[in-house]
Amino acid sequence: MRFEDLGLSDPLLNAIGEAGYETPTPIQAEAIPHLLMARDIIGIAQTGTGKTASFTLPMIEILSTGRARARMPRSLILEPTRELAAQVAENFEIYGKNHKLSKALLIGGVSFADQEEKLDRGVDVLIATPGRLLDHFERGKVLLADIKVLVVDEADRMLDMGFIPDVERIIKLLPAIRQTAMFSATMPAEIKRLTDAYMMNPRTVQVAPQASAAETVTQGLLRVSGGFREKRAALRKLIRNSDVKNAIVFCNRKRDVATLEKSLKSHGFNAAGLHGDMHQTARMETLAKFRDGEIELLVASDVAARGLDIANMSHVFNFDVPMHAEDYIHRIGRTGRAGKEGHAYTLCTRDHAKFLGAIERMLGKSIPPIGSPEAVRTDEDTETPDNDAAAADVQEDAVTEASEERETKDKDDAPRRRRRGRRKSESSKESNSKPDAKKKEVREQCKPVRTPRPKDESRSGKPKSDDDDGDSAFGKDEHTPAFLLR
Ligand code: AMP
Repeated sequence: MRFEDLGLSDPLLNAIGEAGYETPTPIQAEAIPHLLMARDIIGIAQTGTGKTASFTLPMIEILSTGRARARMPRSLILEPTRELAAQVAENFEIYGKNHKLSKALLIGGVSFADQEEKLDRGVDVLIATPGRLLDHFERGKVLLADIKVLVVDEADRMLDMGFIPDVERIIKLLPAIRQTAMFSATMPAEIKRLTDAYMMNPRTVQVAPQASAAETVTQGLLRVSGGFREKRAALRKLIRNSDVKNAIVFCNRKRDVATLEKSLKSHGFNAAGLHGDMHQTARMETLAKFRDGEIELLVASDVAARGLDIANMSHVFNFDVPMHAEDYIHRIGRTGRAGKEGHAYTLCTRDHAKFLGAIERMLGKSIPPIGSPEAVRTDEDTETPDNDAAAADVQEDAVTEASEERETKDKDDAPRRRRRGRRKSESSKESNSKPDAKKKEVREQCKPVRTPRPKDESRSGKPKSDDDDGDSAFGKDEHTPAFLLR
């Protein structure tokens, strides 16, 4: 199959050629002809399959005739995260270079004024996260009555993030006569309900079977005894013993992202964190640096890293075993792309064994252990731990534990957060003061950990006091591989 056979016009074919694509990917070959024929489609495809072009290319074609009116966009793409939305916008730049289509990106963390200015001028393509779009709608800045094409991307992730009520509300604001494409890596019942309710005789196109990991990814499992601190020590060793060019380190909770980032940095790693609470500009900057190779390790939550398209990532580290088995596939799919070799290593403590079981059942095989001494070197064991780093780690543990009850789900533009935001003025005093007080209290309790260790102890690499970095916890469990015991 060639792009020329899909029914795309010359300006688009030229842009595709300039992007360096030679042949359509399976999802493109399947989806593009249906979308060009104005059919609704359900695309069951993961990121990395070329699914973005499978809907952006036909959209450019469909929108190439006609003009947008002020505040009345002609098409809408809903994305669960800001990064994904920004990535889709970039795709429009690349593929739409020979067309004069206007687009607007409505995502959190970007000024309303700039976005409104664009909407006022009229946009052909609106790319938005659900929360920000509804904010604009409620302010009367955007009308959805002229939407001809709707794309809901990463629908299962929208579900995970609690966005489905917002998505449904948006769909109800659109004209009944329109074309709809829904993309999802999996098809849970709630998404099926949406497709039944809001799509017209959709055609399902599916590319990779669910739960299959790319064959180009070498997977490995490292069982760790102990908790957060021991895992951090194990991760450092694993990273040092792997030939890492660039990697994403996945955490299940966003608060662990910040702690792990800090810990890795204090141990001399070139790391940066990416999570939903960061300001948009900071997120974009971090991503750009990671893409450019200025940052080696990107510590991220699933939400923040979902669908990020970063070429040639050498490694993925699962600092936590993902709670949902499908997330394992999404995570490790960040490496081993486009036929290149990749590595995905997972740390597993006893309390995450149940998640591991679910993943292995889904994979239909177990993840090979990577505990053999040949597989890794043991440089760090003989290194002097950095007292400050160790103390900081212990302190972070305490603060982390203290903030446990404050944990919120890692969501961008979460509806609940918007509601909270509206109530903020009434309750901000109270809610702001409590966590700080708690943090301070915990810091006070942790003060002794700042006491420097006697020199001989720290040099031995086998810290004995509480301010060590957790290496002492290894060796208590039969699962701990030999290379971590030395
Ligand atoms: P996506 O699944 O949309 O995130 O795309 C994953 C990557 O595949 C992106 O870097 C695209 O630029 C790239 N890509 C998309 N379509 C093609 C194609 N037909 N040939 C080569 N690369 C492609």
